[in-house]
Amino acid sequence: MTINLTSAASRKATVWQPATIVDIVARSSRVKSYLLKPEKPFAYQAGQHATVRLTAEDGYRAQRNYSIATAPEDGDIIELAIEKLDGGEVSGFFHDTAMVGDEIEIKAPIGGHFIWSVKDGGPIVLIGGGSGVVPFMSMLRHRAAQRSAAPVALLYSSRSWDELIFRDEIFAAQQRHDGFDLVLTLTRDKVRRQGDHDRRIDAAMIAETLSKLPGQPAQCFVCGSNPFVEMAAHGLMDAGISPKIVRTERYGV
Ligand SMILES: Cc1cc2nc3c(=O)[nH]c(=O)nc-3n(C[C@H](O)[C@H](O)[C@H](O)COP(=O)(O)OP(=O)(O)OC[C@H]3O[C@@H](n4cnc5c(N)ncnc54)[C@H](O)[C@@H]3O)c2cc1C
Repeated sequence: MTINLTSAASRKATVWQPATIVDIVARSSRVKSYLLKPEKPFAYQAGQHATVRLTAEDGYRAQRNYSIATAPEDGDIIELAIEKLDGGEVSGFFHDTAMVGDEIEIKAPIGGHFIWSVKDGGPIVLIGGGSGVVPFMSMLRHRAAQRSAAPVALLYSSRSWDELIFRDEIFAAQQRHDGFDLVLTLTRDKVRRQGDHDRRIDAAMIAETLSKLPGQPAQCFVCGSNPFVEMAAHGLMDAGISPKIVRTERYGV
């Protein structure tokens, strides 16, 4: 009998449980990471997310989904990297009110389609817009923890240099020249490194990303806002990539 580990792990852990904020780390000018210690640690796969639930004193509840940025190998504490949105109910709470020691509720891991493991191999293409890079950080950290040489090309679009989430960690991964490569574009800022771009993702940039790989990708993952995902997924198809190997995660709006 074949056991589906993803759904087995998800089934076991998808109940609400308390989680304590044990650290808060600035990851960019608009994103802070919240390191959470769940009461009951759970196994997860790179690419999965957590649902966070906040309950006010009057019983009002709000819940949102956040990708897990840590790798499965990182231990019991999970990292959620949350972008502050103007007027954002839940992101506003995290940025303006949440403190180390606070307890929230989470349900995790969630999601079975947007996952990658080194066992799946490569080459893979990752295309992220803004906070859409967060699940890819989990995949890259997992790849590094496993010392995998699976070819991975990340096309990362951010508004500006200061808004680049995990900037130093991603650049360090690029410097290792171990099969991971990066195509970076800043849509509202000037380029600071040779070879980076200063425009929205287009066919030439997707072709450049594909050219970083030794062969055709086995999987492509696209994550970000709805319009970003639409545009990038269509760009991949225009480049001859089969929709069958393109997986998308939409953050909304
Ligand atoms: C599977 C999944 C994973 C996600 N992972 C992350 C993550 O890792 N990091 C992260 O920061 N967010 C992530 N999101 C988005 C997150 O769930 C919330 O939608 C986001 O934090 C906004 O919630 P809010 O309560 O702050 O804003 P709301 O009060 O819901 O909305 C406030 C304003 O922001 C606009 N808005 C809402 N959502 C977005 C958005 N995604 N982009 C731009 N504008 C928006 C609304 O239209 C409104 O004008 C993820 C979403 C999904 C579905």
